[in-house]
Amino acid sequence: MQGLEQPFPSQQHDHDDCISTAMDAAEGLCRQRGLRFTELRRHVLALVWHSHKPVGAYEILGKLGEEGRKAAPPTVYRALEFLIEAGLVHRLDSLNAFIGCPDPECSHSGQFLICRECRTVTELDDGDINLLVGQKAGAVGFAAEHQMLEVRGLCSECRRPDQATSVK
Ligand SMILES: [Zn+2]
Ligand SMILES: [Zn+2]
Ligand SMILES: [Zn+2]
Repeated sequence: MQGLEQPFPSQQHDHDDCISTAMDAAEGLCRQRGLRFTELRRHVLALVWHSHKPVGAYEILGKLGEEGRKAAPPTVYRALEFLIEAGLVHRLDSLNAFIGCPDPECSHSGQFLICRECRTVTELDDGDINLLVGQKAGAVGFAAEHQMLEVRGLCSECRRPDQATSVK
C-alpha cells in the first residue's frame, strides 16, 4: 500500500532530507531526459519544496524578491510550467498552488490529501484508484485522460485523539 510507504510527514521530521532527496531526483531526471535544469528552475523547485504545504505563484515571486532576485512573473510561470511538465511539481487546482512531487520518476495521476488545518499535502499514487476511476468513467462512455484527485480533511498531526477515535 502506497499510503504506508509514504506516511504523512510529521512536524518533527528532517525536512532538509526531503529537499535534498527531491533536488537529487530532479537533477537525475533532467539529466536522464536531456532537460535543461537551469538555475532558476532549480531555485523555483527548491522554493516549492520549502515545506509540504502548497505555495502559490505569488508567494514564490515574493520569496525571489526577498532574496533580491529580480524575476519577472512570466519567467517564474514558465519555470513552474517546466517543472509541472517534467512531473517534478503538481498544481493543485482547488488551491491554485503548487506542491513538489515526492516520486517524479514514475509517471502518474496523483491523489492528494490536503489537510484543511495545517495545509500539509500528502500524495498517494495509487494505481488501483486510477484504474477504478478509469473503469467507472468508461462505463458511462467517458474516456478519462488525466486524474487529479484532491481530498480535503485532517492529517494525523491535526486530528485530536477524540476525533481520531470517532473516525473509522
Ligand atoms: Zn519534508
Ligand atoms: Zn506526484
Ligand atoms: Zn494537518
